[in-house]
Amino acid sequence: MVGRENGARAIRRVRPRTCIGCGTESPKRGLIRVVRKPDGGFAIDPTGRAPGRGAYLCVNIECVKEARRRKALSRCLKVEVPPSFYDEIEAFIETMSERKA
Ligand SMILES: [Zn+2]
Repeated sequence: MVGRENGARAIRRVRPRTCIGCGTESPKRGLIRVVRKPDGGFAIDPTGRAPGRGAYLCVNIECVKEARRRKALSRCLKVEVPPSFYDEIEAFIETMSERKA
């Protein structure tokens, strides 16, 4: 008999994704990722794979509003985030909600 290490025991490290608006941890699927692009711009990253520093928000307008109020995105991305970008996220969420309905 050959003793083998059981590779199935690999630790799956799931980093919690916390909404910067309400502070709730959600599985990644339930959150929108926004990313600060290397060129200094911002983008909504529906794939969750874009390079750059990311922040997460629930698919919920209220969370965007809360984040805007607390400048949570600026704090999380360590850069000034223009209000127009919050508008962009809100519009994105509205589009998503419409599609779901
Ligand atoms: Zn939230």
